[in-house]
Amino acid sequence: MEWNQPMTREKRGDHGVQLIGEVFQIGAVRLREDGSRDGAFCENVSLRFYKKLHYHVRKICGMKEKDLEGCRSFPEVVRDFAAFWGEDGILFSWGPDDVPMLRDNMKAYGVTDVEIPPYYDLQRIFANQITHESRQVALEDAMAEMGVPHRFNMHNAFADALNTASIAQLLDIPAGIRKLEEEQRIYRLLNIHLEDFPSVRAALAHPKLKKITCPFCDRELTGRIEKAPRVTRVIKATCPEHGPWSYRIKVSKQPTGRFNADMKIAPAREQEEPAEETSHTGE
Ligand SMILES: [Zn+2]
Repeated sequence: MEWNQPMTREKRGDHGVQLIGEVFQIGAVRLREDGSRDGAFCENVSLRFYKKLHYHVRKICGMKEKDLEGCRSFPEVVRDFAAFWGEDGILFSWGPDDVPMLRDNMKAYGVTDVEIPPYYDLQRIFANQITHESRQVALEDAMAEMGVPHRFNMHNAFADALNTASIAQLLDIPAGIRKLEEEQRIYRLLNIHLEDFPSVRAALAHPKLKKITCPFCDRELTGRIEKAPRVTRVIKATCPEHGPWSYRIKVSKQPTGRFNADMKIAPAREQEEPAEETSHTGE
C-alpha cells in the first residue's frame, strides 16, 4: 500500500483514530499454497482526509493529485480488496506498517463490515530464515540477497507486492508462520497489558499483577518486592524449574484519566546489578 501523510502533525486531526496516513494505492498479488501466482489487485483510491499530496509522497511515488481524481473511494476499494483475499486468505506485507494502516483507514472511514484476516510480516520471516538478524531489511536489499531481479519499479504498491511475492516464493512460508506464532506466544507470556483502572491502587490489585506466576509453567511463586515507587514496582521471584524472573510493573495515567498497567517479565540474572531509577509517568 501507499499512503499520503498530512503536511504537519497538527493536521492529523481526529477521524475516530489518529490517522497517520491516508491510503491512496492498494496493490496485492495472490499466491496459492504451492506458491504459484493466482491473481493480482491494483487500484488507486481517492483521498478524503489529506487531499493534498505530501511533497515527499509526490517525489517518491511520482504521483499528482489529478492521478487520483475520479478514483473510487476507500470503502469501495477495500471491500473489493477483501473479496480478493477471500474467505481463508492470509495477508503478508513487507514490514509491520501496512495492516495497522489498513485498519486505521477502515476505522476513519467507518468500514465495519470487513474483517482483516490473519497477517504476517514477511520481513520477519525473511530475517528468521535468511539473515538470522532482527534488524529491518529494505525490500530492495532483500531482493538483492535472494537474487530476485529488479523487474518492477519500486515505490508503487503493485510493484512492491510483486517484489514481495517473489521473495515469498523463495521462503518456507508454513515454517515461517509457525515461528512467528511461537514468538508471539512467548511475547504475550512475557508482556501483560491491562487497561482502564480507576486508580493506581486498583491496577496493582489486579490478580494478574498481584499473584506472581512463572510465565513458563504457571506455578505460583513467592515474590520479593525490590522496588516500589508509587507507580512502578519490580518484583523478583524464582521458579525451582525455570530459574529467577524479574517482574516490572508500571502503571500509567491515560488522557481519559483512567490507568493502564503493563507488566514485563524477563529472566533475572542471579547477580543482578541494582535496577536503574525508574521515571514516573502519570500518577
Ligand atoms: Zn516455571
